[in-house]
Amino acid sequence: MIQTPLEEIISTVESMPPKSKWHFHMLTPDCVFNQEKEKHAFVLEANSKCLVFYSNEKQLETGQKLVRLLHGNKILEESNAEISQASEGNFLTDKAKECNEKKIIWHHHMLFPECSFNKDKGKWKIVLEVDGEKKVFEANYPAEPSSDLRVIELLLYKKNLQSLK
Ligand SMILES: [Zn+2]
Ligand SMILES: [Zn+2]
Repeated sequence: MIQTPLEEIISTVESMPPKSKWHFHMLTPDCVFNQEKEKHAFVLEANSKCLVFYSNEKQLETGQKLVRLLHGNKILEESNAEISQASEGNFLTDKAKECNEKKIIWHHHMLFPECSFNKDKGKWKIVLEVDGEKKVFEANYPAEPSSDLRVIELLLYKKNLQSLK
């Protein structure tokens, strides 16, 4: 991983040709993938390079900007109907819901098949890290798990909205 200013991460994304393969991670200090345990890490994987920016604060604004560039604007729109519909019988989304209900802190990662953090290369993976749990919860998928990811993003977004109240 190459340490770099945040501006360079943003400009790298903005200068990429359409349909380029890239993704990013926002790692909290306690995240299993974060090598710098005192800091937040903003990781960009693009053009087979891995860039990282460490900071004391979570880079939420940049995260939202990049989420929109990567998945489109729709991902962050609230829809309760979709939450109840798409998540039935799925242990990851159930776990996230349960944590929201119990007000337990959690976060997730969607690992692309070629992601440097993905132990099962070639598969899509969603990883859920729950505060106070020693193990992570993960599921592999043969294709992009769009609906599960969307449900989890919405649950996370909801949780964040609740904590602002
Ligand atoms: Zn994590
Ligand atoms: Zn990755």
